[in-house]
Amino acid sequence: MREIAPGVAVIPTLIANAYLVGDRASWVLVDACTPGNESRIRRAAERRFGRGSRPRAILLTHGHFDHAGSAGPLADVWGVPIYAHPLELPYLTGRSNYPPFDLKSPGFFTRIAKFFPTGTVDLGTRAGALEPKRAIPGLPDWETIETAGHTPGHVAFFRRGDAFLLAGDAVTTMNLDSFWDTVARRKQVCRPPVPATSNWGNARRSVERLASLRPLWIASGHGVPMRDAADELSRLADNFHCPENVQC
Ligand SMILES: [Zn+2]
Ligand SMILES: [Zn+2]
Repeated sequence: MREIAPGVAVIPTLIANAYLVGDRASWVLVDACTPGNESRIRRAAERRFGRGSRPRAILLTHGHFDHAGSAGPLADVWGVPIYAHPLELPYLTGRSNYPPFDLKSPGFFTRIAKFFPTGTVDLGTRAGALEPKRAIPGLPDWETIETAGHTPGHVAFFRRGDAFLLAGDAVTTMNLDSFWDTVARRKQVCRPPVPATSNWGNARRSVERLASLRPLWIASGHGVPMRDAADELSRLADNFHCPENVQC
């Protein structure tokens, strides 16, 4: 666990990042990594906010298993609700499955994606709707940015005061298309993870929307958080490439 900016700390795990956002008086967990990370996330939260501290809520940028995996057990231990965009709820409550990964798409991540489940966790009644136009539970200084494309109800969270962007998988800060860049975790603003992105036209529009925010910080689901990356994000939006086997 490492503080990136006031009120934001990252919990990196092998596959994905979770974030502790807020202060001792009021904080939330944004994303919950793969299943089995609940102890690690709880320990990090107790180191940051004190023993026995509980968040106001768990917020999910989207429902993929590497972001929602440990949300259920944490919600049970903490006794808090989990919120995701209404369009993600069918996937998080066992009513619908994400489309299968596009294993014909290019890149390193595609080659390992066949080992990942396309299903995700069933959070049942623990999952509630995050209404994008309303205040975010537990995060008064932040706003929800709808960023469909990677998944239908993907959201990012933005703090206008210091232009801090929690991007989920709408953009990543590592190149998952490259084995060596992934291993080195080289910082780079990149398109959403290729095989798991369902609508590339929407994904491109979401990258454009995020670029228009000119974020000072970009903290994504995958990669090391980056500062002063607004120009790089604008270049990604201006030169957006869909995978070669996809029309967009
Ligand atoms: Zn994802
Ligand atoms: Zn992810």
